[in-house]
Amino acid sequence: MEVPFFDLKRQYENIKDKIGFAVSVVLESGWFVAGPSVQKFEEAFAKFCGVKHAIGVTSGTTAVYLALKAIGIGNEDEVITTAYTFFATAEAINLTGARPVFVDIVKRSFNIDPDKIKEFIEKKCQWDDERHSLIDLETKRRVRAILPVHLYGQMADMDPIMEIAQKYGLFVVEDAAQAHGAVYKTSTRLGKAGSIGKTAAFSFYPSKNLGAYGNAGAVVTNDDGLAEKVRMLINHGQKEKYYHDLLGWNFKMNGFQGEILNVKLKYLDKWNEDRRNNAMLYNKVFSDIKGIVLPEEMDCSHHVYHLYVIRTKVREEFQRHLKSNGIGSSSHYPIPLHLQKPYQYLGYKEGDFPNAEQCADEVVSLPMYPELSTEEIKYVGEKVKAFFYS
Ligand SMILES: *Cc1c(COP(=O)(O)O)cnc(C)c1O
Repeated sequence: MEVPFFDLKRQYENIKDKIGFAVSVVLESGWFVAGPSVQKFEEAFAKFCGVKHAIGVTSGTTAVYLALKAIGIGNEDEVITTAYTFFATAEAINLTGARPVFVDIVKRSFNIDPDKIKEFIEKKCQWDDERHSLIDLETKRRVRAILPVHLYGQMADMDPIMEIAQKYGLFVVEDAAQAHGAVYKTSTRLGKAGSIGKTAAFSFYPSKNLGAYGNAGAVVTNDDGLAEKVRMLINHGQKEKYYHDLLGWNFKMNGFQGEILNVKLKYLDKWNEDRRNNAMLYNKVFSDIKGIVLPEEMDCSHHVYHLYVIRTKVREEFQRHLKSNGIGSSSHYPIPLHLQKPYQYLGYKEGDFPNAEQCADEVVSLPMYPELSTEEIKYVGEKVKAFFYS
């Protein structure tokens, strides 16, 4: 049996007619950049997230950049983020001119550790009355925001993050690129991914839980002023055509993607449910295998399994075994950000973030998509068992 790591064609086969129609709607409307299809999607997606505004943009990377830019992050600033995420999260910080500060993760959730954020602030920063900001004592930059990532489809621990942010006057910007429809729930807070911070970024890269057929992303927020700022930034800084109030860029969403995403959004809850069921079935078939650590759903979270990621000390052999049995796998992510070449200038070294480093050495992503069949999951289960019990 062949179980591909990813297969977008299966989903397309199920919604082919609707997508064909969506494409024709855009062709006939003549709106290929922004326009009514994008606007319709923005309204539906804002409602889905439980926020006031969603603004369609060119990609998730763009969305992270714009969210930071809109809250005023720039040259003199620093943004605290996780050492363990897709590179784009941190890249977006750099594009604003700011400097990323990395902190370690919690291994059980793979998400940023709020205690480590606190530790950085308490040990390395000081409030400065004159600059009215928290200052990094080493770099003299203003620490302005926390950028948690909801990795693999599970939200970061937002309660303590929001508490720290409030205490030190920091913005919280969520990177929700992997967490469309994920929920955070505690006795004091209930909210979907994207609805808890000041603003949030989503990606609709084709392989995400909600994927376009090309690049696309969105910035969401409850703040009217921020939403307006993002709308200007994506459109050359204009509110009124040819009257430019600030310097922006061209970051508007493609019309086809808006119409297509609007079709797909209607299926998202069902697809996320299918992903969850697949994850439960994986958990069941793997439950008695020693030698792997299974993903955990935290008490505070409704996980939407963008990825199903296990850990093993023998990754290389294990992935070779999977491959020889026709099972696709991947590794998200093999190198933590602080050890990536472009971040050498920050001066981190191996050993600085032991949890992120350990996960980077051990993670294996198994096939995970709504269309995965029970037979396929059982087949993966058999082959994984065969490897660890031989
Ligand atoms: C995919 C992703 C992005 C970037 O999204 P693109 O649409 O590919 O630009 C940013 N952050 C995270 C965590 C992602 O997974």
